[in-house]
Amino acid sequence: MKILVTAGPTREPIDAVRFLSNRSSGKMGYAIAVAGKARGHSVRLVSGPVCLLPPQDIELIRVTTAEEMLKAVLENVAWCDALVMAAAVADWRPARYVPDKLKKTAMKPVLQLEPTPDILMCALAHKGRRIFVGFAAETADLLTEARRKLIQKGLDLVVANDVSRRDAGFECDTNQVTFITREGEIIAFPLLMKSDVATRIIMWLEERAARSGLSAAP
Ligand code: C5P
Repeated sequence: MKILVTAGPTREPIDAVRFLSNRSSGKMGYAIAVAGKARGHSVRLVSGPVCLLPPQDIELIRVTTAEEMLKAVLENVAWCDALVMAAAVADWRPARYVPDKLKKTAMKPVLQLEPTPDILMCALAHKGRRIFVGFAAETADLLTEARRKLIQKGLDLVVANDVSRRDAGFECDTNQVTFITREGEIIAFPLLMKSDVATRIIMWLEERAARSGLSAAP
């Protein structure tokens, strides 16, 4: 299978030196890319700014902003059989970018924000028979929110994780996830290493591809 994975946060510039971002480390997305490669698939990884080493033998496309990530996904989605959007795309960006460094004056600056493009929604037009997987990182109403995202973003699988836990979600090496499928199946996993969660996601993709008549072979 050809798998396109996104990982990490995006950075939305405020001025020459400041940006808006989030706590995503990229570990989950990188683990998915590595697990896909280890199981013999072709993987392309679109990565926001992270402190991780580039995985071996995986085509890495580096981006910074949500707009750049959107462009990279749209340029590569036709190539893939499955898209796994593990990136924590910033939901908002400053409405205005100041090319110089804003001066620290007595006047408090007011940041006006605008929404970033929703990459999954933009990619939906190119879905065809491709398998789309998204993540739902929530601090409350996890399953309800995850189900809403599954439907709204036209996903085949949403991987829900509670980011209010210290041992799951952002920045750590472990994660506790629940798979919710388009068919309404709910599969809850115990706390696992992100590498194990990643392998479960790739195995789910392989099963799903085989069931829908796509070639699940590497
Ligand atoms: O709406 P929310 O950000 O919670 O949705 C999470 C899912 O949507 C993730 O898979 C994320 O990668 C994707 N997403 C996106 N474009 C955005 C924001 C999130 O594709 N602008």
